Amino acid sequence: MSPSSLLPLARSPAPGDGLCDAAEDAHGGFPIRAIARLRRTGLLAAPLPEALGGRGLCEPGRVDALRALLTEVGRDDLAVGRLYEGHVNALALVLRYADAAIAGRLARDAAEGHLFGVWNTEPAEGGLVLDGAGGLRGAKSYASGAGFVTRPLVTARLADGRRLMLVMRLEPGARADLSAWRAHGMRASATGTVDFSGLSLRDGEAVGAPDDYGRQPFFFAGAWRFLAVQLGGIEAVIETHRAHLAATGRAEDPHQQVRFGQAMVAAETSRLLVARAARIAAAEAGSPERVIAYVNLARAAVEQAGLDVIALAQRSVGLAGFLESHPLERLMRDLATYLRQPAPDFALTGMAAHALAAGEPLHDLWSDAMAPAAPEAIG
Ligand SMILES: Cc1cc2nc3c(=O)[nH]c(=O)nc-3n(C[C@H](O)[C@H](O)[C@H](O)COP(=O)(O)OP(=O)(O)OC[C@H]3O[C@@H](n4cnc5c(N)ncnc54)[C@H](O)[C@@H]3O)c2cc1C
Repeated sequence: MSPSSLLPLARSPAPGDGLCDAAEDAHGGFPIRAIARLRRTGLLAAPLPEALGGRGLCEPGRVDALRALLTEVGRDDLAVGRLYEGHVNALALVLRYADAAIAGRLARDAAEGHLFGVWNTEPAEGGLVLDGAGGLRGAKSYASGAGFVTRPLVTARLADGRRLMLVMRLEPGARADLSAWRAHGMRASATGTVDFSGLSLRDGEAVGAPDDYGRQPFFFAGAWRFLAVQLGGIEAVIETHRAHLAATGRAEDPHQQVRFGQAMVAAETSRLLVARAARIAAAEAGSPERVIAYVNLARAAVEQAGLDVIALAQRSVGLAGFLESHPLERLMRDLATYLRQPAPDFALTGMAAHALAAGEPLHDLWSDAMAPAAPEAIG
């Protein structure tokens, strides 16, 4: 299956159908229509193997297709992209670590249209704890889709300090508090706090063994997926930048052309890096540190590209782009917010330390053998 054969499923049939409308972009909003469309077109099941009713998107040989799909969804709408990336990540963890019976049950849930997510982040105090009797106490924070995700994969701390993955069964609207999510952007991602106190192991399924969640390189290298979504956000900003120059008759101006050219370089550099990072992450060849270092290199580049593309669009479009009536206004808010990901300094310096300590020449640090060409061409 080629990436392009999946993409029409994600793409809107009519302009705006895949996008949150203004009401959904409000504080406390959620992209109900766009998620319903992903469900209707089979994309919630697509990460599953064909034997479980999916399209095998989590298989290493399909990484180009998954990467292209994540970018496509992110280009349409970053909040939807964030939610879909969390859904894919949760299913990837289930397929990798859960025993067959549990994976089968959860795959059925996904095929029936349950939205999954990964909720790992927690408040400094009061994070999620699983006691020896199987009882849960505590909360998760910055949980996307809170109140809408009905099968969250959460990490719960055990008495010995290790973390166990659980996929919990939640009713829509249950336990979610979105009151603190008064965010600059990504308002429609319903990123809130969810308190699990009083629930127990019987309300969910344990996935894998303690500390499987943090196993490397899968944990850190999985960042390639949010980079693919961010790339879609970068492309959407540049597309709007371009449309504005055309609509205002300013595309011939050499200053505008310089800024637009710089934005194109940022996007294309990101596209190439994300494609390679995805392949290197999927191949998992060589040491985990080496795989992670390449994904971290891509993280640093894409974050900078996103920031640059926003600044270039702001200067080229000017004040009009800051008005709520201009599409750039929301695209920039969403991208600026979604660029905030964990420990960016650590990602950059970790990559630098790896390269500084490596014995081989720089051009051999990530040889092509680490990223074998997938059957599908890069789209
Ligand atoms: C829209 C959105 C949706 C999200 N949804 C989810 C979700 O569904 N599930 C989930 O688990 N999480 C979610 N998150 C949270 C996300 O995974 C990260 O936890 C969060 O984005 C971290 O951002 P931060 O800027 O606070 O990062 P931080 O890591 O706190 O970084 C902030 C700054 O501090 C620096 N820094 C980091 N650590 C240290 C340190 N120890 N000492 C000194 N400096 C440090 C960083 O390099 C950076 O400069 C979401 C985030 C966003 C933006």
